[in-house]
Amino acid sequence: MQRFNHLKPATPAEAVHAVATAPGTARFLAGGTTIVDLMKLEVERPNSLVDITRINGLGEIGTDGDELIFGALAHMSDVADNAVVKRDYPLLSEALWRAASQQLRNMATLGGNLLQRTRCSYFRDTQFPCNKRVPGSGCSAIDGLNRGHALLGGSEHCIAVYPGDWAIALVAMDAVVDTQSPRGLRTIAVADLHRQPGDTPHIETALAPDELILRTRVPASRLGRASTYQKVRDRESYAFALASAAVALMLDGETIQDARITLGGVATVPWRAHDAEQSLIGRKLTEDAARKAGRIAFAGAKTQPQNAFRVPLGIETVADALLIAKGRA
Ligand code: SF4
Repeated sequence: MQRFNHLKPATPAEAVHAVATAPGTARFLAGGTTIVDLMKLEVERPNSLVDITRINGLGEIGTDGDELIFGALAHMSDVADNAVVKRDYPLLSEALWRAASQQLRNMATLGGNLLQRTRCSYFRDTQFPCNKRVPGSGCSAIDGLNRGHALLGGSEHCIAVYPGDWAIALVAMDAVVDTQSPRGLRTIAVADLHRQPGDTPHIETALAPDELILRTRVPASRLGRASTYQKVRDRESYAFALASAAVALMLDGETIQDARITLGGVATVPWRAHDAEQSLIGRKLTEDAARKAGRIAFAGAKTQPQNAFRVPLGIETVADALLIAKGRA
């Protein structure tokens, strides 16, 4: 691993200034569960790590008026186990519980979780061409091992899946992040945070390199109660999704008034399935309607030689999630 400076700012302003002015490449450090891994693999080679864990006020878990507030340094396990989150927003709790391992959930932070990098094995092995790691070098996955690669949102330059779970649930709930950079504060919808690869797969988010996530805010909504996050994977723990779905429903009797469906593990970004949602509104949720919504969600899927099996898997995941959410209404 390359030697690096370890900086310990006391405030967000100091942190973003440190990243903006550090010589060479600087990265924020929180739980370290992504960045340190990638540094060991030499995929990331920062000259400086700007450690934000000593900044007060970024670890809050609470409510403010009609919003849930999750500080960037809140730990996954603490939010997953929060009584209000479990009762009123089960999709948020389940998205966190079904991610990583208990040790990682205890260490990893919510801000870092949003920004975790792809698990594409070619990205993580510096011997292989990878447009995301070295722009213009090529994509080894398109003609290589692509069982876990994206069905939606890919390009001829990259088909890497966004691997997170938390962001999938947040997009379903219209959450936003507040950020700070040397240019000031701003708010970004989580739905706009991640970028599809297009011809610049190395640019993964809407954040500037010196822009720090301060907190996530989730608007209060009755949709939260009738919700779930379902995740299908090769084993039941410590594995990334082959397909996942965050679903929330609002019902009037048997009739669906509002529906949210976001797909995970199958796209280059958290993938909101607006057409599938619309197909449900004003109808009763039968098994047929749930499966039809799943088919609509995957209507634009573009498969690779090894990953076509994940289309029917994803359709069933959406259908299952819808029926589970209905049962909680
Ligand atoms: Fe790199 Fe993306 Fe291709 Fe994977 S899919 S090798 S991350 S360019």
